[in-house]
Amino acid sequence: MSIAQNIAEITTKIDTSKVKLVAVTKNNSVSSMIEAIAAGITAVGENRVQEMLSKHPDIQAAGLTTEWHLIGHLQTNKVRQAVPLADLIHSIDSEHLAVEIDKVAAKLGKCQDVLIQVNIADEESKFGTEIGQALPLAKCISQLEHVRLCGLMTIAPYCENPETVRPVFKELYQLYSELKGLNLAHTDIRWLSMGMTNDYMVAIEEGANLVRIGTGIFGSRQ
Ligand SMILES: *Cc1c(COP(=O)(O)O)cnc(C)c1O
Repeated sequence: MSIAQNIAEITTKIDTSKVKLVAVTKNNSVSSMIEAIAAGITAVGENRVQEMLSKHPDIQAAGLTTEWHLIGHLQTNKVRQAVPLADLIHSIDSEHLAVEIDKVAAKLGKCQDVLIQVNIADEESKFGTEIGQALPLAKCISQLEHVRLCGLMTIAPYCENPETVRPVFKELYQLYSELKGLNLAHTDIRWLSMGMTNDYMVAIEEGANLVRIGTGIFGSRQ
């Protein structure tokens, strides 16, 4: 199926007035991205700053606009390059990183929207805060003038049967509700970013309102 057909199929399954679809374009060409944007995609997700930087001018040159989401781990030494371009950074996992973003955003006169990445399945190989650290980190971020916390993100472990990870999504939704309930000043808690190609329907059933889909749109990556 073509990229446009894949997008059409996904958007018949999800209510895009309630759930934001981010097309994960990592390792995919600029021409595929252009196809996706032409087919109605309004937000793209990259997991490497370098790739986002290199594709951005080509998308602009094509006369297209899209939101740029940084969904991969962000090293502090890449913050200076990431902040000017990123509409939403999904992967905040330390106070140190948030403070660095605040400094760079302040210089640009920008308030950077971010999500806290929570490592809910507690897998050693993945980034993100431990679940118990998420709310304390949220409180720290709420003190930063040039960073605006907008919610939470998680990457569930890959399982053949997405039902297996339903409890992970339930747990993150609960944490998201707690975070909202804190009513922290200077935050705008509205995104729960969870669900990928294999598990997005389960994630949405459990309260996700932002899904990040790569393979389901572009086919398998090289
Ligand atoms: C690659 C990636 C995705 C998309 O994964 P698919 O299974 O291809 O849909 C989503 N989120 C993050 C953080 C990723 O790195």
